[in-house]
Amino acid sequence: MSYQHQYVDGTRIHFPLGKVVCIGRNYAEHAQELDNPIPTEPLLFIKPGSCVVPLDSGFKIPTERGSVHYETEIAVLLGKSLSTNPTVEEVLDAISGFAPALDLTLRDLQAQLKEKGLPWERSKCFDGACVLPPFVPVSAFEDLTDIGIRLTLNGEVRQDGNSALMLNPIVPMIQHMATQFSLMAGDVILTGTPVGVGPLNPGDKLVVELPGVSRFESQVL
Ligand code: ZN
Repeated sequence: MSYQHQYVDGTRIHFPLGKVVCIGRNYAEHAQELDNPIPTEPLLFIKPGSCVVPLDSGFKIPTERGSVHYETEIAVLLGKSLSTNPTVEEVLDAISGFAPALDLTLRDLQAQLKEKGLPWERSKCFDGACVLPPFVPVSAFEDLTDIGIRLTLNGEVRQDGNSALMLNPIVPMIQHMATQFSLMAGDVILTGTPVGVGPLNPGDKLVVELPGVSRFESQVL
């Protein structure tokens, strides 16, 4: 299914889908649940646009490649480009909106790759590995250090985080990313997952939310 950025009111956003820049271990309790050390500097990786699919009423996951984990994350859509050392004002001006996204991960494969010191791409970049619902415009958010993120799986709340718990808050994180490589209009930032990751299976029913702001129901096909 092809993906195009859009807002929750159905308005299409005419930035091309670019790359998805992700940060690993940005919540201390999540780093601990996978027995990972807390990084001393941001752990960045990129998912290509080819892996993005819309959340819609359902999405597919790979089967027969080991466990597929959900990571529910606050996604930031950029509407302007940013490069080396942007100011706080420039970052705020570049943010278009927010959505509750899924960073899907082939967890068994990632564990093997990590053990060998190999890149994570095969576990993070498969088709369908980034699931995006529509975005809520940035004007709806007063405080970027107080945005909730929640996943309810088959009726049970599994992840319930808040940007207040991020080791690297949203604005400094984007300043750091833009200093490593240029960010473009249409790029998406996945800001890390709170504690509570786990496997997904066909037939699972999900509700992903920015609590009080946007809420989407979907299922694994
Ligand atoms: Zn993630």
